[in-house]
Amino acid sequence: MTEDLENPRRPRPGELTFTSPRRGKPPGHLADLDAAGRRELVGAAGLPAFRADQVSRHYFGRLSDDASAWTDVPAAQREELARLLTPPLMDPVRELTADRGTTRKTLWRLHDGALVESVLMRYPDRVTMCVSSQAGCGMNCPFCATGQAGLTRNLSTAEIVEQVVAGARQLQHGDVPGGPGRVNNVVFMGMGEPLANYKAVVAAVRRLVEKSPAGLGMSARGITVSTVGLVPRIKDLAGEGLPVTLAVSLHAPDDELRDTLVPVNTRWKVAEVLAAAWEYAAATKRRVSIEYALIKDVNDQSWRADLLAKRLRGKLVHVNLIPLNPTPGSQWTASRPEDEREFVRRLEAGGVAVTVRDTRGREIDGACGQLAAAP
Ligand code: SAH
Repeated sequence: MTEDLENPRRPRPGELTFTSPRRGKPPGHLADLDAAGRRELVGAAGLPAFRADQVSRHYFGRLSDDASAWTDVPAAQREELARLLTPPLMDPVRELTADRGTTRKTLWRLHDGALVESVLMRYPDRVTMCVSSQAGCGMNCPFCATGQAGLTRNLSTAEIVEQVVAGARQLQHGDVPGGPGRVNNVVFMGMGEPLANYKAVVAAVRRLVEKSPAGLGMSARGITVSTVGLVPRIKDLAGEGLPVTLAVSLHAPDDELRDTLVPVNTRWKVAEVLAAAWEYAAATKRRVSIEYALIKDVNDQSWRADLLAKRLRGKLVHVNLIPLNPTPGSQWTASRPEDEREFVRRLEAGGVAVTVRDTRGREIDGACGQLAAAP
């Protein structure tokens, strides 16, 4: 199988799709470009290149794309700069809230009608934005709602960044209970397989991390990229010099079961995925996170906990157990509490750090695996 995951070709029926069918290209936006690229674009349009930095400061520093407020830019240039650098990328279709307004799921319509969702979660000490990297997903994991409709298309860098900026704006405007705040963490755990949209995702991470006016100025340590385990792309990510946290959706310690739960396992096996994860940990000195959705009587047996502990022992790793969230049409449910407790106990006894993830956003279908973007 070719490793060129971004080279479009027609998928055969039932085949995993890494590439998106070509649809209208999203409008170009300053967040797609680095600071030098923006200056070049503005210069080529016959405007002073430094205007690019001014507009970038408005967008990333003040979170403003309202050209009428750019008072340091001559009024006659504002409209053209806005057209070049901050065209509208997406419209909110609906916002659902839970936890007294501290969990908010937004459904966005992109320029070509594609739909994606993002989720803001405010905790006492931090705010996490869960963002989508693709409209739909081609990975076809049977327990995840996003995969059921397949992949629509990749998001552009700016479409990813804009989800974070939109959350930051809500916090800035005081729309989220708890007073004005900032986005501290970004997790690529919304719709899509981030490493199947590698270039746009890595560029989005750069925009999040770069200091204003180039970017939002977040810490790379607050960013998590979650993957089904596209081994060549994990290796590429290890070489980017970006110390983001890598999360691997393992869900089974053995190939027989993982082949069915995470179909891409038929291409890259558990041992290969874990070897790539340890390479990532060695290159970045960052603890890798292993995601494991606990599914009643499917992957929650004691022997699987022991096998998982055996495969992870002694590594720079942390296990995140996720009680399975319900999805339409699935017979599977979360593990019994006693089985979950036993799973945790066996991992701990095996010397592996483990936490159970909260199920925030469940009641608004905003939790892990529930994003389906139905209008
Ligand atoms: N495609 C990436 C990003 C999605 S992250 C990945 O798979 O890692 C979303 C996380 O939630 C993944 O670990 C995914 O396997 C998990 N998930 C999917 N469906 C779920 C469900 N119904 N209940 C709990 N977790 C689920």
